[in-house]
Amino acid sequence: MTDCKIPAENLLPGVEGLKGPLSCLNQARYGIGWGAIGAAMACYDTALRYAKERKQFDNKPIASHQLVQEKLVWMITEITKAQFLALQVGRLKDLGRVHPSHISMLKMNNVWMALETARSARAILGANGIVDDYPVMRHMNNLESVSTYEGTHDIHKLIIGERITGIPAYF
Ligand SMILES: Cc1cc2nc3c(=O)[nH]c(=O)nc-3n(C[C@H](O)[C@H](O)[C@H](O)COP(=O)(O)OP(=O)(O)OC[C@H]3O[C@@H](n4cnc5c(N)ncnc54)[C@H](O)[C@@H]3O)c2cc1C
Repeated sequence: MTDCKIPAENLLPGVEGLKGPLSCLNQARYGIGWGAIGAAMACYDTALRYAKERKQFDNKPIASHQLVQEKLVWMITEITKAQFLALQVGRLKDLGRVHPSHISMLKMNNVWMALETARSARAILGANGIVDDYPVMRHMNNLESVSTYEGTHDIHKLIIGERITGIPAYF
């Protein structure tokens, strides 16, 4: 970007300072909050079906084991909580009452939730979890990137931290 020149007519219209670009980030981060739920649901659905079909020892499906059920229950509970968070932030947005820290909480939580869901789903699939016959590893790799772009997980923590304490802790 050194010495990169942008023509004046390419400026965002009607915008002063960083407000315009930051409002674009709010839209993108809000969309990511919903998109992460979709990735998590694909991983959950894959893991649930696999756990019911895959039989090990005494011809029992692995879904009959308590520790496998615990993972599936965690996933569906966190997905449901993430849906409610996204819905509530959407309602605040519609009412014009959304604050960037609400969107930070949505992006931070839902991407983290989706990544943890993908990791648990990967574990349930065993070695099959790393092959591309199933979508889990693809979602997991993608979510690792999503966790960094549009504000890293930790930077969103700092945005929320500033909102609740009034003290910026970025430096
Ligand atoms: C797949 C992908 C697509 C991308 N697409 C775009 C795009 O389209 N447009 C665009 O502009 N950018 C894009 N990015 C860049 C992305 O926004 C940045 O990578 C991200 O903001 C982190 O910046 P960085 O990589 O320089 O890491 P750094 O800023 O060096 O951060 C590295 C680590 O240090 C932590 N850290 C940094 N500062 C602090 C602090 N003050 N306090 C505590 N911890 C801190 C971060 O949380 C992170 O964990 C993309 C990145 C990826 C991976």
